[in-house]
Amino acid sequence: MNKDQGAFPSGPPSEKLVDFQAVRGLSPFPVALDCRYYIGDRPCRFQRDCPGCPHYSPQGTRILILKTGALGDVLRTTILLGGIKRQFPESHITWITATSAMPLVPRSLVDRVWPVSPETLGRLHVESFDLVLSLDKEPEVAALAMLAKAPEKRGMGVNDRGAVYPLNPEMAYYFRLGLDNHLKFHVNRRTYPDLLAEAVRIPYDPARDDYHLDIAEKDREEARRIFLAQGLEPGQPVVGINSGAGGVFVNKDWTFFGYLDLIRELDREKIPVVLLGGDRESQRVSELHRRLKSPYVKDVGTQHSLGLFSALAENCRVIVTGDTLGMHVGLAVRSRVIAIFGSTQPHEIEMFDRGEKVVTPIECAPCYRRSCDIHPSCMELIRHETVMDAVRRQLALSHSSRT
Ligand code: SF4
Ligand code: SF4
Repeated sequence: MNKDQGAFPSGPPSEKLVDFQAVRGLSPFPVALDCRYYIGDRPCRFQRDCPGCPHYSPQGTRILILKTGALGDVLRTTILLGGIKRQFPESHITWITATSAMPLVPRSLVDRVWPVSPETLGRLHVESFDLVLSLDKEPEVAALAMLAKAPEKRGMGVNDRGAVYPLNPEMAYYFRLGLDNHLKFHVNRRTYPDLLAEAVRIPYDPARDDYHLDIAEKDREEARRIFLAQGLEPGQPVVGINSGAGGVFVNKDWTFFGYLDLIRELDREKIPVVLLGGDRESQRVSELHRRLKSPYVKDVGTQHSLGLFSALAENCRVIVTGDTLGMHVGLAVRSRVIAIFGSTQPHEIEMFDRGEKVVTPIECAPCYRRSCDIHPSCMELIRHETVMDAVRRQLALSHSSRT
């Protein structure tokens, strides 16, 4: 985003300049307190005086977004940013999120990213906003929306008895989806971005709105270095296998042996495979690597930052994943994604024509259960041959989209 609006090429209008020096009889030093780049305790990034500054960019509509988790949900919520900028072309966005999710909020579109912290609470007591978009259903986060000073609030609120409720009429359907399993599991066919955008009255168009994820150049360079060290050339058709899927819901991740058989098949066809994952998957990744012992199967490590994980994913033509953060990252970095669904709802995921869903045929899905003793389970019923066919299709499509 070019935040310089260009409407003030000769600098801030005089009524926007405040001179704190004048009262002490010091030489004039006017500052533009409403400029988005103003910091106050040090010079702004342009290292110059405010009068006549061509970079002056008034904050305009001050918007506060509250979305703290889970990581994948934070990333997919970035889909709203394009619509927010269309609705409020001159706006200043502050996003409060969990500390762990901060790297997923794009600084190119969001002016300030604040963690949930006592310092943030202090600032909420002082600052005011024009609009609050409260996108978490947890009472702790909805309470922040109630504390924030703003004439308009959309999304989720919480009352004085601690009960969460929709703040605006458009939120009603999205709110009900959280309470009505029949509606969520068997009736609703709309995607999360579509539902959320409607709920907070932000325009959404799947043909133009997409994920926004900033990847630092240093992470891109490190990912390239890791790939080259593994003998992988940039642009080579590599398949990323993201075998974990968080620890909350049972059967969100495909089976170990499903992945093992799929990778054996890829290995037979000499298709390079990169094993992706985070801390939680380190054992699974090492075990897959140990059992396969193939020059085509690469363990690139699991102790990476979110930025480096995203840069590694960006180097994969196709990513096979469960319904988890890796799926959202894969879509955000514009890789082709094969998303495998067991106990969770596939219809809410917008794939943006960059992949396909492999969905369990079992009748009890989706269920969002935390434990299950059904065998064969929803995930055990997904055959590796089915996923392999999807990989072949997506590799072919990735090839044609790059030539
Ligand atoms: S960008 Fe220009 S107007 Fe804004 S704070 Fe910096 S010097 Fe002042
Ligand atoms: S109840 Fe059915 S869908 Fe849910 S986890 Fe068990 S097998 Fe999977």
